[in-house]
Amino acid sequence: MKLKELFNEKKTVFSFEIFPPKRNDPVDTVFKTLDALKDLEPDFISVTYGAGGSLKDHITAAIASAIKNHYGLEAAAHLTCVNSTREDVDEALRQLYVLGVENILALRGDPVEGQEPCKDFLHASDMVQYIKASGMDFGISGACYPEGHPASASLDEDIANLKIKVDAGVEHLVSQLFFDNEIFYRFLDKTQAAGINVPIEAGIMPVINKKQIERMVSLCGASLPAKFTRMMSRYGEDKEAMRDAGIAYAIDQIVDLAAHGVDGIHLYTMNNPLVARRITEGVRTLL
Ligand code: FAD
Repeated sequence: MKLKELFNEKKTVFSFEIFPPKRNDPVDTVFKTLDALKDLEPDFISVTYGAGGSLKDHITAAIASAIKNHYGLEAAAHLTCVNSTREDVDEALRQLYVLGVENILALRGDPVEGQEPCKDFLHASDMVQYIKASGMDFGISGACYPEGHPASASLDEDIANLKIKVDAGVEHLVSQLFFDNEIFYRFLDKTQAAGINVPIEAGIMPVINKKQIERMVSLCGASLPAKFTRMMSRYGEDKEAMRDAGIAYAIDQIVDLAAHGVDGIHLYTMNNPLVARRITEGVRTLL
């Protein structure tokens, strides 16, 4: 099923994101994660693509295929293009098609230090256009940034570029993580004013340890409201308390987002089924 159909059917779509096993981890660790996530029945699960794009191994496609064909859940495979030639993308599309994966989260990806980016696709919108022109019938999603992409001069400029991506054929957007819902609501108003009318899912990252947030914020520059920093300074050094506080914070965000009537919630599970379970159980009846 194409993801856009889910948004026609459901009041609030609830989805998960997982990542493939890290380089030195056995491949079956991800199946243990999926075994534990399955009965939470998310509307779909998306699978990230290695930074810089490791097209040589097709692990993302294989996991997305297992989610769909073995676990019986809808799946989306992330695909980046910053280091890909047209031939690389052709190969990835064929692979996804053969494996029965219907949905692609089309991304530019980040240039890898010391590696000259391939110039076939400068922006995610270029790959979206290319996938559309391939004639293969994929549902196409894209990323969006409630606080603006770090490389954009302003949020307005980023939203103008987002409109180009949607006009190229993106049918659904997933947002970068954020910790202040008001920022997301302002973003929704601005996208609507810009004529962007596809469903936009709110990306929610439960923060369960201090190191994780320091890394995340330096990567994506998300604003931290006072309520959040108070929580970090009070519980940051206590592993269990931080986990519980982080779960409670994510639930609180989701309750408010659902009450606001957002199109969907995309939970960055960080492959942690325990956290995903506690959050899902905390919000299921609202969705
Ligand atoms: P784009 O949409 O191309 O935007 C990148 C920048 O270029 C923005 O500043 C934008 O304003 C500008 N721009 C876009 N189009 C134009 C245009 N036509 N003209 C001029 N400027 C333009 N990374 C991974 O490596 N693997 C993953 O699996 C992955 N999953 C992600 C999932 C989500 C939900 C999100 C939010 C991010 C994810 N990322 C992933 C990170 C992402 O690859 C980076 O944030 C990357 O820097 C931008 O990707 P994009 O697809 O948003 O790029």
